[in-house]
Amino acid sequence: MSNQMKALVKAKPEVGLWLERAPVPEIGHDDVLIRIKKTGICGTDIHIWNWDEWAAHTVPVPMITGHEFAGEIVEIGRDVHDLSIGQRCSGEGHLIGKTSRQSRAGKFHLDPGTRGIGVNEQGAFAEYLRLPAFNVVPLSDAIDDEIGAILDPLGNAVHTALSFDLIGEDVLITGAGPIGIMAAAVARHVGARHVVITDVNQDRLDLAGQVADVVPVNVTTQDLAETVSNLKMKQGFDVGLEMSGNQRALDQMVESLVMGGRIALLGIPPGKSPVDWSRIVFKAITIKGVYGREIFETWYKMIAMLENGLDVRKVITHRFAVDDFRDGFAAMLSGQSGKVVLDWT
Ligand code: NAD
Ligand code: ZN
Repeated sequence: MSNQMKALVKAKPEVGLWLERAPVPEIGHDDVLIRIKKTGICGTDIHIWNWDEWAAHTVPVPMITGHEFAGEIVEIGRDVHDLSIGQRCSGEGHLIGKTSRQSRAGKFHLDPGTRGIGVNEQGAFAEYLRLPAFNVVPLSDAIDDEIGAILDPLGNAVHTALSFDLIGEDVLITGAGPIGIMAAAVARHVGARHVVITDVNQDRLDLAGQVADVVPVNVTTQDLAETVSNLKMKQGFDVGLEMSGNQRALDQMVESLVMGGRIALLGIPPGKSPVDWSRIVFKAITIKGVYGREIFETWYKMIAMLENGLDVRKVITHRFAVDDFRDGFAAMLSGQSGKVVLDWT
């Protein structure tokens, strides 16, 4: 192996990413080295590409971006005993400490010191990635590399969707981005009765209809209340999964929930966002914020569901070789894509 590799780097504090040569990372005793096969482009990578305020405040330059990946282990550290060379894998991109109260309670995903690969630590948009062995998630033959590369956002969808019991429930998902669409597929898979997904972007609603058995509603042209009555729902939705980060979507969700309804919030509003709290109080609504994936319960559940018929492949709408990464980012920036996967082989 040469000690240089290709990597997509935030090399300058300005718009764009650059395909450069970088040193292959050296691994520590508890790490593995992963040869990357496929990666997914995330909304986070778009923030970093655009170099918006969040990115400029958060990401040190130079930084290899990317955190959605699948690959194969090519080197293991001296103290790693439960993994082997040649093992296909994906992995949790949130690097956690082991000393916080939350970690010591086994709630690793709530560790306040979490650091993200491709954001705070060198990332996965490269031929090789160094990762703590703890973060590795082995892949069975049932999960190919392109699905392996989107387990991170599928995990966001699964974590959010499994926040509340959905069996026999009517579920409203606001935002038909890749994560909202995958959450819709998960909600159906686990036995929700009606799953309605809203967006303002018709292309994405069309994609949602192709990926999952859901009722898409374009809130710019359709009345959500009419859909509720067409589906013969008596009061409203039992559970809301907010996946747009849009304030109007949250307002609409609160309005169309039953008394005592439950909301899981994954979407990230751009800044402070006004909320009509009295509506939430009088409707006795429970709200849960959702960050990342449960480590590793979400991974366990999502792999089990994928092995048992959950099918989200159609959410991948674009595939490019890494040399054509600009086309991949253009597809994401167009707002007309689902997931975009880059091939590093
Ligand atoms: P995305 O930006 O691709 O999708 C958001 C969708 O919401 C878009 O299709 C947009 O058209 C739609 N939308 C805008 N206004 C709307 C409205 N009024 N009603 C309904 N839909 C509306 O995002 P994604 O990659 O699918 O991620 C979903 C959200 O989750 C984003 O806000 C993202 O920042 C957030 N996120 C959070 C975490 C976490 O750990 N909490 C992790 C990943 C992503
Ligand atoms: Zn992601």
